[in-house]
Amino acid sequence: MSVIPHLINGELVTENGRAVDVFNPSTGQAIHKLPLASRETIQHAIDAAKAAFPAWRNTPPAKRAQVMFRFKQLLEQNEARISQLISEEHGKTLEDAAGELKRGIENVEFACAAPEILKGEYSRNVGPNIDAWSDFQPLGVVAGITPFNFPAMVPLWMYPLAIVCGNCFILKPSERDPSSTLLIAQLLLEAGLPKGVLSVVHGDKTAVDALIDAPEVKALSFVGSTPIAEYIYAEGTKRGKRVQALGGAKNHAVLMPDADLDNAVSALMGAAYGSCGERCMAISVAVCVGDQVADALVAKLVPQIKALKIGAGTSCGLDMGPLVTGQARDKVSGYVEDGVAAGATLVVDGRGLSVAGHEEGFFLGGCLFDNVTPDMRIYKEEIFGPVLCVVRVNSLEEAMQLINDHEYGNGTCIFTRDGEAARLFCDEIEVGMVGVNVPLPVPVAYHSFGGWKRSLFGDLHAYGPDGVRFYTRRKAITQRWPQRASHEASQFAFPSL
Ligand code: NAD
Repeated sequence: MSVIPHLINGELVTENGRAVDVFNPSTGQAIHKLPLASRETIQHAIDAAKAAFPAWRNTPPAKRAQVMFRFKQLLEQNEARISQLISEEHGKTLEDAAGELKRGIENVEFACAAPEILKGEYSRNVGPNIDAWSDFQPLGVVAGITPFNFPAMVPLWMYPLAIVCGNCFILKPSERDPSSTLLIAQLLLEAGLPKGVLSVVHGDKTAVDALIDAPEVKALSFVGSTPIAEYIYAEGTKRGKRVQALGGAKNHAVLMPDADLDNAVSALMGAAYGSCGERCMAISVAVCVGDQVADALVAKLVPQIKALKIGAGTSCGLDMGPLVTGQARDKVSGYVEDGVAAGATLVVDGRGLSVAGHEEGFFLGGCLFDNVTPDMRIYKEEIFGPVLCVVRVNSLEEAMQLINDHEYGNGTCIFTRDGEAARLFCDEIEVGMVGVNVPLPVPVAYHSFGGWKRSLFGDLHAYGPDGVRFYTRRKAITQRWPQRASHEASQFAFPSL
């Protein structure tokens, strides 16, 4: 079993101490050992970042962008290798892995615009012979903590932008599927990034707490589950850090009576069961307006769920792979049991699925519940698995109330042909990312990503324009150059025009 190293100050380093196994979820076998960083190892990465910062901060943005252009090229050249690593450790299909990488590369493309996005703002003649401008300066050493479900894309939401803004970055990826994350970081160094500007340290709570405690770390970006997001936001802000912490989700799709049902069903299949439901933007609740829509939806979904092609993620042409760990599979199965006990109708039961040749893999088939009600745990909590819940309501207003009352507000969508209904939905729904006939409305890299309510703690969303604001601080400079030397009398009144 190979040991996955940290990447600190441009070097691959191993550490003797606590370690965990990394599994291939399709076989159920442990394939790597992963060291869990001690506080000393985290400090080593911080020291390297601190040492690299002065030179990197003064590197022209256009030069920083040139590194990102080369990085993009390397990512594209290595797509197959990266997708294979993602699939081997996460379990998602190769096509899905390639898709997440492409969405990650979008963020590198956005970062290539560094000279444009860091231009600042300028006003001439704000007073007599006085000009003013706002400069966007880096924060220094910043850190990111990322989840297992997008080992390539979510880190790429963070460090390309943080780095082109002039910061040095420490990444603490998920301990479940770190190999693709590490390879991608190595490609950035190969693209010409000076050592120390990006380090990758593996670890658990000890590593995260060391990053929270370190006074040198000025900002933390977190993506993961809500309890940890809330913890990192509270502890980080208490220490005066800038924190954006993105959490969990329960994403509803509303089906109106006039929806194009066949297309809505196709969209729901991908959005609910793609990546085994392990996406923070996965649709996990279908809210049907009227029994007629609900009956028709369930009738169309059942054969498609039963026909899902499920197998080892690294095989081609599949719809779904396994869940990430045996623990995750058992947790999702537990929710299915809970839903049955609470009185929901289990229309398709994916439990007990065995994949020939991969009997030890962490597989679970697609599950569908009908007649789910808002008091049930399967409705209230994030399941993070291939389980879709159908809730029946009588009106769009009732559907919207349901969504607005939910503690999460990450993504949502409406399927309709009615522009008035869609507009009302977009205006009034209390969710950060909204789709109209688009099931996974993940914003492109030049917008920003973030939920509302308990799906995001902090003021700024991830990547795009909000990301630039998050990773820079504004400095406003007011400058006067008198045209000729002349004595100016003191002014005791507050300066004004
Ligand atoms: P997680 O919260 O278990 O782990 C996320 C990160 O936090 C990992 O790096 C992990 O090592 C670290 N961590 C775990 N326990 C910790 C602790 N006690 N103290 C400090 N750090 C700790 O999440 P996960 O299971 O890896 O990912 C799935 C979750 O992430 C889901 O809830 C999903 O909705 C969410 N997610 C949200 C978004 C979003 O944009 N809102 C995107 C992707 C995933």
